[in-house]
Amino acid sequence: MLTLDFHPVGRHFLQIPGPSPVPDRILRAMSLPTIDHRGPEFGALGLKVLAGIQRVFKTAHPVMIYPSSGTGAWEAALVNVLSPGDHILMYETGHFAALWARLALRLGLQPEILGWQGGDPALPNAPGWRHGVQASQIEERLAADKEHRIKAVCVVHNETSTGVTSDIAAVRRAIDAAKHPALLLVDSISGLASADYRHDEWGVDVTISGSQKGLMLPPGLGFNALSPRAIEASKTAKLPRSFWAWDEIIEANRSGYFPYTPNTNLLYGLSEALEMIEGEGLEKIFARHKRWSAGVRRAVDAWGLPVQCADPDLHSPILTGVILPVGVDADALRKTILERFDLSLGAGLGKLKGRTFRIGHLGNSNDLTLLGTLAGCEMGLKLGGVNLAGGGVHAAMDYFAQVPSEAMAA
Ligand SMILES: *Cc1c(COP(=O)(O)O)cnc(C)c1O
Repeated sequence: MLTLDFHPVGRHFLQIPGPSPVPDRILRAMSLPTIDHRGPEFGALGLKVLAGIQRVFKTAHPVMIYPSSGTGAWEAALVNVLSPGDHILMYETGHFAALWARLALRLGLQPEILGWQGGDPALPNAPGWRHGVQASQIEERLAADKEHRIKAVCVVHNETSTGVTSDIAAVRRAIDAAKHPALLLVDSISGLASADYRHDEWGVDVTISGSQKGLMLPPGLGFNALSPRAIEASKTAKLPRSFWAWDEIIEANRSGYFPYTPNTNLLYGLSEALEMIEGEGLEKIFARHKRWSAGVRRAVDAWGLPVQCADPDLHSPILTGVILPVGVDADALRKTILERFDLSLGAGLGKLKGRTFRIGHLGNSNDLTLLGTLAGCEMGLKLGGVNLAGGGVHAAMDYFAQVPSEAMAA
């Protein structure tokens, strides 16, 4: 008989870059009885979370909260502002960007995919999966589109498959420099509430996010943050939509309600998460993630393994991708580490299956949890026969001991 024992003694180390560990405080808030989603109490909860999530996106405009995964919120963004056959410009920074492009294709859109140009001996089959969006390429392509056939530019803020961020403000500047009317759509599913993000200031038209990464919630909520231009575009866009349609949601949200049954208990969780996030302050949260990322990199560097992100300015504060020597199977390594040390690490995705693994360092964590995580990695790498240059855990310990979080403030 199959036994589902997901909870052996001690805490499982869930160090994948989402779902991230859910704080007990949030789990407790979610355990309260489900209430009438048309009753008076619900409206107050709805208004609270809708206002709170706007502050996290840094927007004064409406934010849609869907009972969906991030993929649903990707689809919602596209179907609300685009029409069948529309040309869109996407940029392949990794597996998630590629999946979003596939989704666009299935919706009947015509994505044109840009990507980093150049080779990489460490990852010859996916050289671009070590870099961020090159805004100059977007500017050049848009400037050549004199007839304005391109309706939207779609980029991923924090590419969770690689551990590389992209400069969203630079993408905005590129669109403006080309004097092009395309909408800017950004996936910050794993960036939101862990890495600096400014929906309004950066002129983003739709930001897509999800609950199970920086917001520290279980999976099950998807978000679209809108701009006035995106709302205008939605009034004439022709892709079929009903469940995802913004108009009825915006209307119902005015009084804190939803047009259909929302994910009530996850909204209790969101309410609690917002209190935790605002209690600590977004800037402190960003600094803490940058510091964790730097500490984890110290360990990877000491091991002598390449960090996947090749651009020192673009290291993800949320996760670190690690490239293994050719011949070492990353999936076998992760399996050993899980079985021996009850530690879950992220897999190499898509083209990088078996070549890389990813260490999540986001959300509800701390220095000692990360040191435990690095110890699990180090032991696993040794068991897997990987020749390590030196002790990574010690290097990270030295870093964490020496560098206070305040030192990382922007
Ligand atoms: C997690 C993630 C997704 C997919 O979200 P799901 O909730 O799994 O549908 C998309 N993009 C990025 C950048 C992600 O990190």
